[in-house]
Amino acid sequence: MKRLVIPQKSVHAGNLILVNGQYPYCSENVEGSLVPVHSDSSVLLERRAAVLLSKIMSSIEGWEQISAVSGWRSREEQQKIYDQSLRDNGAAFTEQFVARPDHSEHQTGLAIDLELGKPEIDFIRPDFPYSGICQTFREKAAAYGFIERYPKGKEAITGIAHEPWHFRYVGAPHAAIMTELELTLEEYYAFLKQYPHGEKRFLHRTGNQTIEISYIKAVAGTDIEFEIENDIPYSGSGNNADGFVLTQWRNGNDKG
Ligand SMILES: [Zn+2]
Repeated sequence: MKRLVIPQKSVHAGNLILVNGQYPYCSENVEGSLVPVHSDSSVLLERRAAVLLSKIMSSIEGWEQISAVSGWRSREEQQKIYDQSLRDNGAAFTEQFVARPDHSEHQTGLAIDLELGKPEIDFIRPDFPYSGICQTFREKAAAYGFIERYPKGKEAITGIAHEPWHFRYVGAPHAAIMTELELTLEEYYAFLKQYPHGEKRFLHRTGNQTIEISYIKAVAGTDIEFEIENDIPYSGSGNNADGFVLTQWRNGNDKG
């Protein structure tokens, strides 16, 4: 066994951070890792999310019909969008569709709004139907680490109206598990907390690999310490609240 110690602030970093009305985004180092989603676009995403998005798009020739409307936003930009929407659309609409500054997933660089056709026809509510190329994208998304973040019927849990156009990179295998179990990111944390590291683990099988997922509770003000077996590939992400998710690939070395 190998003992790992990671700093407390790691709770607020990683692909699985939960940013919503309750948990603000509080990491500051995303800007150095942003890249355009494709060569003709000014829309930026965190590098790994951009790479995986490109893989989906090339497999379906998606950029021929789909536009990137909005990816990473600075806090200032989110404030402007929020204020503008309050002026143009009123408070009721804005609360449903536009997150307050620091509470938008777009500040993480892991979220993207997509639209069928030309960009910016409707910046706040782009058209991304459950048919044609958009549905093909949706069906491929989970395998590449993306989830539809604000599904219909989960509005009370996410705090955001149904947004068919907003996708969030959470990474593999988490996107596939969430999609299969129909869990939002909020619900996924409630689910993962049933698997405390060292006691129980959630097993996800894919191909010849068994992926083990467990949850490590963070104690405020102290580093996060845990043990893992030697020589097993792993990755980790904070939940941006009170803990850390450990993912271990039992066979093979491909982290997907
Ligand atoms: Zn969005």
